[in-house]
Amino acid sequence: MSDANKRQRYDQFGHDGLRAGADFHTYANFDDIFRHFSDIFGAGFGGSIFDDVFVGGRTSSRSRAQVGIPGSDLKIRLKMTLEEIVTGVEKKLKVKRWKTCDICNGSGAKAGTAKTTCPACNGNGEIRQVSRSVFGQFVSVTTCSNCGGEGRVIKERCTGCNGEGRVHGETTIKVNVPAGVSEGNYIPLHNQGNAGQRGGEPGDLIVVIEEEPHRIFTRDGDDVILDLLISYPQAVLGTDIEVPTLSGRAKLKIEPGTQSGKILRMRGKGIPNLRSNYAGDQLVRVNVWIPTHLSKEDKELLKGLSKSENIQPHEGDKSAHSDKSFFEKMKDIFS
Ligand SMILES: [Zn+2]
Ligand SMILES: [Zn+2]
Repeated sequence: MSDANKRQRYDQFGHDGLRAGADFHTYANFDDIFRHFSDIFGAGFGGSIFDDVFVGGRTSSRSRAQVGIPGSDLKIRLKMTLEEIVTGVEKKLKVKRWKTCDICNGSGAKAGTAKTTCPACNGNGEIRQVSRSVFGQFVSVTTCSNCGGEGRVIKERCTGCNGEGRVHGETTIKVNVPAGVSEGNYIPLHNQGNAGQRGGEPGDLIVVIEEEPHRIFTRDGDDVILDLLISYPQAVLGTDIEVPTLSGRAKLKIEPGTQSGKILRMRGKGIPNLRSNYAGDQLVRVNVWIPTHLSKEDKELLKGLSKSENIQPHEGDKSAHSDKSFFEKMKDIFS
């Protein structure tokens, strides 16, 4: 498929669903990505953020490049913090890859020399072999190994790249990562992989997202969970406190009589959904802190308090853990 066709196919599917930079829209053939990379990612890979865009976009396999030998695809891992995932970021990646030779512009031929017809295949790019048997005549066709299928070979090699048309190099590539990505998501960058040999089509660069574990937050889909310690008086009397979120500190109201283990939901303080305007929540699990170092005066106060009838739990009193369905979910997350 020509580049023009790819572009047309891409435009046909559009990219309204993606809040991302231009770098995201260039891979027009999802099946190609899948086929080329399924062996690397195995069965458990996370899935391209392009899934939605290319629904129905099944195409035939990438046609063989007309010139040279195509470059291979590259995979690079990109670490992201939860803070970066919340906002989305532009990242600069240093990529070691084959790049087109500047001296010969990728042709592999010495300046001033032209290519000639490949003597092995007479310019056909393929070798036909005919064999006969009692069942009839068989023709097998293989790509010419002398010219790599191009049908032409160089007379004199470029000294910069020894005739390969490409040299080792390091390039800085900008990639816009949208908000809401998660571990295993990948971003295909069309033609940003290894340069091909003797002018062959470059491969693609696949950026694979790696989510770094957070010091205090645990991610659960688009929600984030925070374990919060409060004092016994705060739990009993209620208070307004500030808690950390992924986008700075935010106010949280602790109602009087809040039980240890209660989950408080801070709406929209989680992670933006990759494919919608929805944002997840921050779930705050309240834990009442039991002090371990007390002065004599503290102890006297507590002893006085403990005589009160209201301090004792009674049979039938409910803890925050009586909300079974929610607690089971939390247990799964924290275990
Ligand atoms: Zn060269
Ligand atoms: Zn040949």
